[in-house]
Amino acid sequence: MSSKGKPRVLLMHPILDPGPSILAEAAEVVPFPANLPLDEANIARAAEGCTGIVSQVMDPIRETVLATPGLKCVSNVAVGFDNIDVPAATAHKVMVTNTPGVLDDATADFAFTLLVATARRVVEADNFIRSGQFRGWAIDMMLGVDVFGATLGIIGIGRIGRGVAHRAKGFNMRVIYYDPNPLPPEAQESLGATPVDLKRLLAESDFVSVHVPLTPQTQHLLSKPQFESMKRTAILINTSRGPVVDEAALVEALAAKKIAGAGLDVYEREPAVHPGLISMPNVVLTPHIASATTRTRSEMSAMAARNMATALRGGRPPNLLNPEVKR
Ligand code: NAD
Repeated sequence: MSSKGKPRVLLMHPILDPGPSILAEAAEVVPFPANLPLDEANIARAAEGCTGIVSQVMDPIRETVLATPGLKCVSNVAVGFDNIDVPAATAHKVMVTNTPGVLDDATADFAFTLLVATARRVVEADNFIRSGQFRGWAIDMMLGVDVFGATLGIIGIGRIGRGVAHRAKGFNMRVIYYDPNPLPPEAQESLGATPVDLKRLLAESDFVSVHVPLTPQTQHLLSKPQFESMKRTAILINTSRGPVVDEAALVEALAAKKIAGAGLDVYEREPAVHPGLISMPNVVLTPHIASATTRTRSEMSAMAARNMATALRGGRPPNLLNPEVKR
């Protein structure tokens, strides 16, 4: 509790309007000191005396932080929460919340953007013009692969995966998906998506788009054997989490032409990117921006701030990930 009688909340990074005003009504906001490395020890030190932490995907919120005396809630400004040790939070009776739903469309739009950009060599073509190499139309210049009518394999048919399937309808794609929790038949029918096992998805897809959360079960879900079972012409799109893909195996598969290209928004050791990827023209790389539209990031900020404000007032936050803490 601060001298102003409001609980203290550690804001790890700035958030967008209207998040700050929602937070300020319920808490005294303490910013994480700028330029301090984002490690557990620094976060734990900064969290001393705080009832809440508003975190983002790059903040490791694990045992050392979660053991902070008086800590009640960690509100992550993201739908993914692999940066937080939720079982440890539950053991310390700390609520954990995320921001599902508000970023589905922006992220699905972006997965499709990467898919088309990679298939049609948009970044390579842009670099070609800027470096003064365009000498006029040529029949064999910058040949890409067709998206319209191709087969799209979606791994993880949750909120975002379904959004990608929806967009694929407009491109007349055949959509197959792999998910241990298959869709109900009506949803499958309206999306035109057929469930298959992972082996078949990899063997039949022209594009493979990944939309699973990062968990111990999904880490390196795509590694050497999976790349070897894909078509040589296939393109991998990853907007989920970097460690779902074995990045070294991906570089090897691309270098050996086991697959044709990749569109990546997330990396195994962010912000580091495997040097092998940097030099490959058939790979489109973006800096973890799939949800980055002004409206979406603002809604994520507001939702995270509301989750925190509700927890501080003793309520049950709408997006509580460990409800057992509130029982
Ligand atoms: P969701 O929970 O709605 O869907 C995830 C789906 O993956 C579920 O249907 C689940 O059954 C399935 N799944 C789990 N394990 C699986 C496995 N081993 N194989 C196949 N499917 C499996 O989640 P969502 O809201 O669609 O988000 C998905 C992930 O996307 C998030 O966890 C987050 O990490 C990532 N994400 C990234 C960005 C970005 O900026 N790049 C933005 C938003 C979300």
